[in-house]
Amino acid sequence: MTDIIQLLPDSVANQIAAGEVIQRPASVIKELVENSIDAGATRIQVQIKDAGRTLIQVTDNGKGMSPTDARMSFERHATSKIRHATDLFAIKTMGFRGEALASIASVADVELKTKRPEDEVGSFIHIAASEIIKQEASSCNNGTNFIVKNLFFNVPARRKFLKSNTTEVRHIINEIQRVALANPAISFSLHHNGTTVYDLPAANTRKRIVNLFGNNMNQALVSINSETSIIKISGFIGLPKYARKSFGEQFFFVNNRFLKHPFFHKGVMQAYEKILPHDVLPPYFIYFDVEPDTIDINIHPTKTEIKFENEQAIWQLIHAAVRESLGKFSIASSIDFDQSGSIDIPIAPRSTQGIEMPSISFDPNYNPFEEKSHTDSSPTFHIEKRSEPSHWEDLYQVTSKKRSWDGPTVFSIDQAETQASFIEEKSPAIAGDCRKIINLKGKYLLTPVKSGLMVIDQRRAHQRILYEKFLDLFRQHEGVCQQILFPQTIELTTSDAEDMKELMNELNEIGFDIREFGPNTFIISGVPGILNNSDAKEVVLSFFEEYKSTGNSLKEKAIESMAQSLAIASSIGYGHQLNNEEAGHLIDSLFACQTPNYTPSGKLVLEIIPIEEIDKKLK
Ligand code: ADP
Ligand code: MG
Repeated sequence: MTDIIQLLPDSVANQIAAGEVIQRPASVIKELVENSIDAGATRIQVQIKDAGRTLIQVTDNGKGMSPTDARMSFERHATSKIRHATDLFAIKTMGFRGEALASIASVADVELKTKRPEDEVGSFIHIAASEIIKQEASSCNNGTNFIVKNLFFNVPARRKFLKSNTTEVRHIINEIQRVALANPAISFSLHHNGTTVYDLPAANTRKRIVNLFGNNMNQALVSINSETSIIKISGFIGLPKYARKSFGEQFFFVNNRFLKHPFFHKGVMQAYEKILPHDVLPPYFIYFDVEPDTIDINIHPTKTEIKFENEQAIWQLIHAAVRESLGKFSIASSIDFDQSGSIDIPIAPRSTQGIEMPSISFDPNYNPFEEKSHTDSSPTFHIEKRSEPSHWEDLYQVTSKKRSWDGPTVFSIDQAETQASFIEEKSPAIAGDCRKIINLKGKYLLTPVKSGLMVIDQRRAHQRILYEKFLDLFRQHEGVCQQILFPQTIELTTSDAEDMKELMNELNEIGFDIREFGPNTFIISGVPGILNNSDAKEVVLSFFEEYKSTGNSLKEKAIESMAQSLAIASSIGYGHQLNNEEAGHLIDSLFACQTPNYTPSGKLVLEIIPIEEIDKKLK
């Protein structure tokens, strides 16, 4: 037999590498922008069309390339950034693997124009699917300009793998946010289909954060600083008040490179433990400076996972630094939570010229993490449990802005007339604020109506309301996937895994991002936007159980069962004492539903005890 092993042609090898490095338009942008940073650019402009599918253009004013380097730059393992293996442990540049340009050029149509300031003329190179189509001298500006067209034109499978434009743009925005936060001194712009998404001037870190996330963020931030021999920690963390239910404003950087670090994230979250409900996330922008030889950047092709030599010690330092900052600002944060407080103390320094300590005095011995009795006059922290939110809006925290509760769902009499027969009994809803609602054992709401006494099961009512909202939202937001920061894996038995494969396709159609991840294992990397506060794994497993028991396979059915499981999981429990206002809201919202009298699973939500029956009993 003849030998069968051959070396792969470069174009194939490059495509394989591209599989790891270039997953979507956002990855191209990340690589090109990082190259511009390495080239010393002070201004980087990114333009995209159709979420980067048809065009990505990155222009910088960096040092440019010589004609030979321009050609070399597309070779695999061609880099100007390292020369020896030992250099791997002293990396100060963003790139070093020398594979980004080769990968991009293997899966797209790429045009490069580049000129060094010292050269008279620059170079133009056109390369597509790893083939040089043209190379010539060209007059161009100092710096480098890459145009990447029709990404994955020669890899249909990958093109198909791309998500909706909204999702792809979200990924791009995430990349730009990361790189812009890591390099506040560089000015960045992002244009999508001719519209400006970001135009960020060079700034300090705090200003850059505010420019990216809006003025509100300015009041949310307190600085964090700690310097030890192993790490310097700086940056900003958010006051508890500004915590949110969704990911998106949590960033770590090491030596100006964005990184994901679930373990360090826990360190931050634990520092907030007693002052935040467990299901919300404070914003944070934490920068680490370490000796390059104490981290390994080369453990992941996209370099967002980085290994630290002193992980445990750094965890402790992060945790302590966050606590210290929160402690310093404890007055500010306690005011946020103190219902009785009427003193007006600025919650955060308002200066935009870097952060200063506010000129308010605080008790250095006061420890916000010590729980005090609530009768104590010292500041108290209000800790909420997810199942029993004390703010009425929280009951609806998953709802969209379109039908938020600030624009209340007012029950209208006209509507009433057209609805089912019991509608006539809706006087509680019409009676306005003065209506009396009695909460019985945290389970039933009792309220007088024309013909007697209406008894509403509060939990079931809430389920019905949420169910209709979720249905609406699912239909509106169909297919819009939101990536989650910490993908979760699910392990199943072999037969369950088969079922899961079927369900997975359907769920992916409505905005999940679930993929097979080894034998009988699945990874959830995204959920429909409106679910991004939920525990992805729990949600998927509950759908899976439902799917297995009912065999529902139609998409609409899946949407219904999703809405139902979610409504059941997020409804208020029994034993939750609603106050009069909350109960009033609940009743109004219930009667704004299409089918107020039954839960999505068909249980009775309310009953009216006729006055005659009460009369009879009291005879
Ligand atoms: P790496 O960044 O890992 O070195 P790349 O494939 O991304 O690998 O780039 C290859 C080389 O091309 C770089 O090492 C650099 O010398 C050069 N290069 C790429 N982009 C630019 C740019 N915008 N300006 C100047 N030189 C660049
Ligand atoms: Mg690079």
